[in-house]
Amino acid sequence: MTAIRSTAALRDAMGGYFRALGEAAERKTAPVAWCSSVGPVELLRALGFAVFFPENHAAMLGAARTAQRYMPIVHSQGYSPDICSYLTSDIGAYLAGETPLQAYGLPGIPKADVLVFNTNQCRDVRDWFEWYARRWNAPVIGVRSPRAIDDVTTNDVDGVTVQLEALVPALEAIAGVRLDAGRLAETVATSRRTSDLWETCLQSASRRPAPLNFFDGTVHMGPAVVMRGLDEANGYYQRLLAELGERARDGVAAVPGERYRLYWDGMPIWGRLRALSGLFAEFRTAVVASTYCNSWIFSALDPADPLRSMARASLELFIVRSEQPKVRYIEAMVRRYQVDGVIFHDCRTCPSNSNARYGMPRRVSEELGIPTLVLDGDVNDLRCFSDEQARTNIEGFVEQLADVRPVRMDAS
Ligand code: SF4
Repeated sequence: MTAIRSTAALRDAMGGYFRALGEAAERKTAPVAWCSSVGPVELLRALGFAVFFPENHAAMLGAARTAQRYMPIVHSQGYSPDICSYLTSDIGAYLAGETPLQAYGLPGIPKADVLVFNTNQCRDVRDWFEWYARRWNAPVIGVRSPRAIDDVTTNDVDGVTVQLEALVPALEAIAGVRLDAGRLAETVATSRRTSDLWETCLQSASRRPAPLNFFDGTVHMGPAVVMRGLDEANGYYQRLLAELGERARDGVAAVPGERYRLYWDGMPIWGRLRALSGLFAEFRTAVVASTYCNSWIFSALDPADPLRSMARASLELFIVRSEQPKVRYIEAMVRRYQVDGVIFHDCRTCPSNSNARYGMPRRVSEELGIPTLVLDGDVNDLRCFSDEQARTNIEGFVEQLADVRPVRMDAS
């Protein structure tokens, strides 16, 4: 496997982001806002906040497999093991006084001056933020979004836009500045550019063989998650895009000898990314696209109409939609990326981002004539994941792919 060279620049970019965040929190160079992962970050940046994304922090705990130590601390305080393991990992780490951000010189997670949620993804982010709000006596505000929507209507957009407008005075009071309309438009333009660059990076995997896969994407999506609205994110993605172009041109494959191509729906299993990446590589099967990595594409963002376009972007996301648009979306991805099968990760503690529970895998399989596999697991709680079971299921699934579609003769 030829490693992606831009990974070194990725570490630099993420390190710079975390150090700036630490400086804001410690030296009070900027107010600190916590933001849910697909929350109104452009508004926060335009008001001069340094923005922290606790879901990114929780994913780091999952990837480091320290989450297992932290979750029981929170379960013992009355939080169910069945609720979001991001929430329980993150709060547990806080109670244990530990964070991977110490590697970047931060003594702890940055204390929030305000916590801003959007329930477009789930209720858990709000419950999560409210825990810290009680602890720090900090304000928690946000958007209560409609969910499970069919087509995004003008009424839906109006409802969220009004809520975003209502956040402005409260945020201005905390930031101590008035919102500058020009700065908001610029931030939305920068964020849209990030989204476009990230989308183009992901679309490079429509090439055969794919120059990057889902597992690469979960790593390289970092700036799209935490640096939206910052020029540094765009600098990074221009560099990554150039490298992916080279890889595609030179036939450098994410999975050497790519035989089959899959789509991944649902959350990553952070503590098993490396193991799963190796397992699929062993079967010469590339997971070329995913709902998860695509979730940071916000094509509706428009600097000519900042708040309204932010509202629309937040509502068009896959996770906010009802079953039919979700099926249509997956089917479009299957065609675009020419995939041979779909894996549905049934994430135990994240029902909002699990689509295997109401018959979707079977419907997708019947409509597209391709196999689907439901993989039991969890985003952070590895007690819900069995390595042996996963290997057996994935191996059987790849054999099924071979029955449906014989190996391409032109595969490298
Ligand atoms: S979407 Fe899932 S993993 Fe993310 S915060 Fe909500 S419940 Fe947790």
